[in-house]
Amino acid sequence: MIVKREKSQILNYLEDSSNLTSGEADLVYVPETEDEVKGVVRDCADKGIPLTVSAGGTGTVGARIPLGGAVLSVERLKGIFSIDKKRKRATLQPGVVIDDFLRTLENEALFYPPFPTERSAFIGGNIGTNASGEYSYRFGPTRAYVHRIKVALSTGEILDIERGRYLADKEGHIKVGDRVVKIPSYKSPSIKNAAGYFSKPGMDLIDLFIGSEGTLGVITEAEVTLIPALPPRFIIVIFLPQESRILDFLREVKWSGEVHPFSLEYFDRDSLEFLRKDFPRIPDCESAMYIEDEEREEVVDSWIELVEKYNPIDTWISVDKKSYETLVEFRHKLPENINEYFRKINSHKVALDIAVPEAQFPELFQLYQEVKATGRVSNVLFGHIGENHLHFNFFPQDEDERRWVMETYEQVVRKAVGAGGTVSAEHGIGKLKHKYLEMMYGREGIAEMARIKREIDPFCIFGLNNIFPENLL
Ligand SMILES: Cc1cc2nc3c(=O)[nH]c(=O)nc-3n(C[C@H](O)[C@H](O)[C@H](O)COP(=O)(O)OP(=O)(O)OC[C@H]3O[C@@H](n4cnc5c(N)ncnc54)[C@H](O)[C@@H]3O)c2cc1C
Repeated sequence: MIVKREKSQILNYLEDSSNLTSGEADLVYVPETEDEVKGVVRDCADKGIPLTVSAGGTGTVGARIPLGGAVLSVERLKGIFSIDKKRKRATLQPGVVIDDFLRTLENEALFYPPFPTERSAFIGGNIGTNASGEYSYRFGPTRAYVHRIKVALSTGEILDIERGRYLADKEGHIKVGDRVVKIPSYKSPSIKNAAGYFSKPGMDLIDLFIGSEGTLGVITEAEVTLIPALPPRFIIVIFLPQESRILDFLREVKWSGEVHPFSLEYFDRDSLEFLRKDFPRIPDCESAMYIEDEEREEVVDSWIELVEKYNPIDTWISVDKKSYETLVEFRHKLPENINEYFRKINSHKVALDIAVPEAQFPELFQLYQEVKATGRVSNVLFGHIGENHLHFNFFPQDEDERRWVMETYEQVVRKAVGAGGTVSAEHGIGKLKHKYLEMMYGREGIAEMARIKREIDPFCIFGLNNIFPENLL
């Protein structure tokens, strides 16, 4: 096992894509086997050393950033143990890079749908955050694709959790050996959600670990469910003159029954400005919709017929592999360019990641438009509109602007939570969104999460300050 102690070797583990700068650690363990993971965990538990689990570092809420103690990086646990074509299952280690995994599956005509747009993420980070990506409109987030995990706990055990094995009883208790875990009394919203510990009557223990942001243990192995390789696909991007027609367009796509896209994404005018340096042909317009679907003549025709009703200023459509890849790049470039800009202006990311139930989305979208219309602080609004989930990123340049953004943030969160929504649909809570999680589940809900953590991680070493503040433990 490699152990890194030099400051220069550690620096890389003190950051992720959040721009949080308070990271510090004494050393980084890079284990190569499950036994080594177990040894590190046991040692840290014995000595009371906080341990932060680190994967690809693409997270946006500082969850893998340590605030002291040690880091356990899963980067060398990158074995794909088996791919079972018949059962459509793969068993692999947490350090497998999503991009490598997808390429390996391609050779087997299989596919893992819930990967995040940033493919340098690891499978461990994917499960640790319940990520969802460009195809989640059709296939949903990570949770449903995780069949079994092995987890190294601070008690020294390796817990093997297969879906269906540990279920909550009517009183909300999950019995695991001598341990009884009482699930929270709140119910997670039945929409795309990555905020806090999952909770639902009769829930499965595995769902508590999925999205737990490294606070309960180290996932050392996972068995995930696969689907057949996707058919050939095409992308259509339409540039629209009027923002007001976006909701009509959405309604028609969702309820006409004529089309069933894989992806349905939105870009506002300001997002398109962030792409203009890479794609100078972007026309002057209010917004754009990005759609990916199966490349069959009748499907393509249905889309062309549908989009024409909305009088687009311009329409881009992929006609071959090269143009398809260019449009994939169009989609991927936006978060990359935004993160680059945040770094350049040395600003902390202020990013809303809210989703609400379908019926409440028009009202939330209207509120977003009102916030934009104030013209107070530069921002971009984009993302997974098909799932009633948009990323609203602000770029405050001074304290005054920052104060305004934080007040606006709170106002929007209050509205979303009141509408049965979530404060984080995909990025998680990490170290940046404790306050908003409390607005969602109340003090009692947060205290219930802390109680679960103490039950599963009695030495309280894992992922401190992720999801809720350490002082609650
Ligand atoms: C450009 C860009 C685009 C993005 N697009 C998306 C998107 O489309 N959808 C989306 O959901 N997210 C997206 N993200 C966020 C990020 O990619 C995801 O959250 C991803 O799942 C994080 O994986 P990672 O390997 O980088 O994890 P890290 O950032 O290293 O860690 C994330 C969390 O998982 C925990 N963790 C990691 N491995 C383990 C393990 N083995 N056991 C226990 N806990 C573990 C860590 O402790 C930490 O709490 C994007 C980020 C960027 C920069």
